[in-house]
Amino acid sequence: MAQTTPNHTQTVHGWAAHDPSGNITPYTFKRRENGVNDVTIKILYCGICHTDIHHVKDDWGITMYPVVPGHEIVGVVTKVGSNVTGFKVGDRAGVGCMAATCLDCEYCRDGQENYCDQVQFVYNGIFWDGSITYGGYSEFLVADHRYVVHVPENLPMDAAAPLLCAGITVFTPLKDHNLLECKGKRIGVVGLGGLGHIAVKFGKAFGHHVSVISTSASKEKEAKERLGADDFILSTNEEQMQSKKRSLDFILDTVSAKHSLGPILDLLKVKGTLAIVGAPDKPMELPSFPLIFGKRAVTGSIIGSIKETQEMMDLCGEHNITCDVEVVGTDEINHALRRLANNDVKYRFVIDIAGSFSSKA
Ligand code: NAP
Ligand code: ZN
Repeated sequence: MAQTTPNHTQTVHGWAAHDPSGNITPYTFKRRENGVNDVTIKILYCGICHTDIHHVKDDWGITMYPVVPGHEIVGVVTKVGSNVTGFKVGDRAGVGCMAATCLDCEYCRDGQENYCDQVQFVYNGIFWDGSITYGGYSEFLVADHRYVVHVPENLPMDAAAPLLCAGITVFTPLKDHNLLECKGKRIGVVGLGGLGHIAVKFGKAFGHHVSVISTSASKEKEAKERLGADDFILSTNEEQMQSKKRSLDFILDTVSAKHSLGPILDLLKVKGTLAIVGAPDKPMELPSFPLIFGKRAVTGSIIGSIKETQEMMDLCGEHNITCDVEVVGTDEINHALRRLANNDVKYRFVIDIAGSFSSKA
């Protein structure tokens, strides 16, 4: 049922899932008026993250239908509130996963607001005024300026959109493990999808030896020739996995479905770290032997702070790092969601939102 919150007077056209069937249909809803701390963004492009599928299908059991997905949002600022100093009309802006945090806890005060336990996301969240948040599969967004970043002028908007979630999610674990500063480490990336392909690009840009660990033999050629990976390990091939035991310093696991962690941990050197960012709907077993015999650590992280997101965007601007995207129209969202669920995209679908509205005009 559509919500009725005071000040939510602006009519927005978008696309929503109404049940766990996996289907998206056009949906008209309301957004708040642009407040003193807000910017309004005309959405140009929105990436399709695997998290959108988890929400559309209610994989995690937390979806509030109707859900308007989309948290890889780029566009142009069309309005700014009176308290906003960092943005002006016409700026290229990006919004990722966060819509609101408490602004007062130790994590918010310390610039790690993505770990605030009251964090509310850009869709399927509850904003400060009690309204349910609706995401970027829609024509415009009203966002508090504290959760908006600048998109460097030299980056194409469509190929920059997935940086807002996929990019920042793989950037922070690399940063947290000093892999921006020290070069020449041996890094593994498990799962060559939206998150994984950007992780490979970052790993190479930061001067490391990068191995892709994948279930898809068909991805080897491109991983090496197009993305610059140094090695490709087929995780379903036991011989290959055995021969690479104890070869990696750090592994980033981006896999969206339940899988075995033991063989992945065995690829780490003694004292190596496995950082998990993928979010399968079922718990994964953590075998103790590869941990204790290798003094290995397992960690996880969620996206990054807004400060880190801006840092990553600027770095991508400097190094010209963009995502490999397949741009689709709004009439192709369901097809794209199905193809993403079937592991059939290289490497991120991005919806041409503005194109859909201009073609109707
Ligand atoms: P994606 O594009 O679908 O990529 C996931 C990759 O995982 C696939 O390309 C595939 O790579 C591999 N894979 C899929 N099913 C598998 C299976 N059953 N066993 C082994 N490997 C499998 O998804 P994404 O958008 O990158 O998102 C990945 C995960 O990260 C999702 O669960 C998403 O919700 C989560 N996520 C977390 C955060 C965070 O803040 N922590 C942020 C964004 C997304 P290969 O073909 O190479 O094997
Ligand atoms: Zn995402």
